[in-house]
Amino acid sequence: MPNGPLSTKLFELAKQYIPGGVNSPVRAFRNVGGDPFFVRRAKGCRIWDVDGREMIDFVGTWGPAILGHAPVSVIEAIHTAAKDGVSFGIPNPYEVDMARTICEWVPSVKKVRLVSSGTEATMSAIRLARGFTGRSRLVKFDGCYHGHSDSLLVAAGSGALTHGHPDSAGVPAAFAELTSVLPFNDEAALEELFEAKGHEIAALIVEPYPANAGLILPKPGFLQKLRDITTKYGAVLIFDEVMTGFRLAKGGVQELEGITPDLTCFGKVIGGGLPVGAFGGRADIMDYLAPLGPVYQAGTLSGNPLAMAAGLAQLRELDRQQGFAYLEEIGQVMEEAVLDVLKRKGLGYRWYRKGSMFCLFFTETEVHHLQDAKTADLVSFRKFFHHCLDHGVYFAPSQFETGFISMAHAKADMERTAEVAAAALSAL
Ligand code: PMP
Repeated sequence: MPNGPLSTKLFELAKQYIPGGVNSPVRAFRNVGGDPFFVRRAKGCRIWDVDGREMIDFVGTWGPAILGHAPVSVIEAIHTAAKDGVSFGIPNPYEVDMARTICEWVPSVKKVRLVSSGTEATMSAIRLARGFTGRSRLVKFDGCYHGHSDSLLVAAGSGALTHGHPDSAGVPAAFAELTSVLPFNDEAALEELFEAKGHEIAALIVEPYPANAGLILPKPGFLQKLRDITTKYGAVLIFDEVMTGFRLAKGGVQELEGITPDLTCFGKVIGGGLPVGAFGGRADIMDYLAPLGPVYQAGTLSGNPLAMAAGLAQLRELDRQQGFAYLEEIGQVMEEAVLDVLKRKGLGYRWYRKGSMFCLFFTETEVHHLQDAKTADLVSFRKFFHHCLDHGVYFAPSQFETGFISMAHAKADMERTAEVAAAALSAL
């Protein structure tokens, strides 16, 4: 079904003034074909486009909307904070509250610095690790996305993967050469690299549950292996929990898996929908940052009072409602429905889920790393996506993304989603 007239008109206008008509490439529907719709309003688990179409949303603004859209607690907190000023560039009490909350929820984080995006968090964590170790090499995994700073746009996931630019033009070769890329879940490749170059490696950065090439889970022992090998060679272990942090458990994947990284990056949920990122960890490493140490990092809007207030309200509400337990429960409802549909249709597609994050890969191959994910049948995914969209269910417009469930998704929403998904799979 084509877009409604208002979305169509807005997209034409947008393309005149914004490259490709979007401010972030993944929004452009390249992986699925067609044009993006424009949203008018979002509330709870639902969004309405400018033409009045209503959809159950499983994108959740790409992760931040863990309570659902426009939760009253967050909106009120933003109003209250705004009355006293929207930005100061002077320390404010909200920042201290947020920093303390992060340190209390995530025990490996002894000190934290607040920034305005996930990209800033990972970029700064890497500079810090380089400054702290005096080394330059960086290790990342194929298909993991850590934002769009130069050192990290190498074999990247998310929109970079979807759009066929996992290695971006404009990144100087000298930068890219300092980033070594490994397949996820491959211990032999990891050992080989560290044996050859271990003493040059400043940091290894990883999404502990890679969620930017679909959703991929670590094999038992793999994350521990990362901890052990980085310790052995004196490299900084950075967990990028921009997506998983404050979404899967109070302490993120590191709590679920019992691993203590040296540094962790956050974003998304901690901003309550406003632009926030954070990176933190060992105090001896964090104290290398200016003004205490020699590694420079700064931000005009860092610790912005509205963003802090929104994030704090979201975290408190999540805690008050025992959110992680509910998200697991409703995640299971979805999982049972999806597995039942796949069984009834005789399809061997692979389904992965952790709490409120999920991915249905359109492949019968088990997915342990990017190459497995790439066996997905993108034509079938595209048909599935459009059928669901036409029937009021909005999944991420790319096979290489993770779906998000929120506190606002109820059992009835999951039942409706399962009906639509079943019909979509029958129509393939
Ligand atoms: N790290 C991860 C794991 C992410 O998923 C993302 C964004 N999807 C980022 C970093 C970058 O965050 P931002 O888009 O806020 O810059």
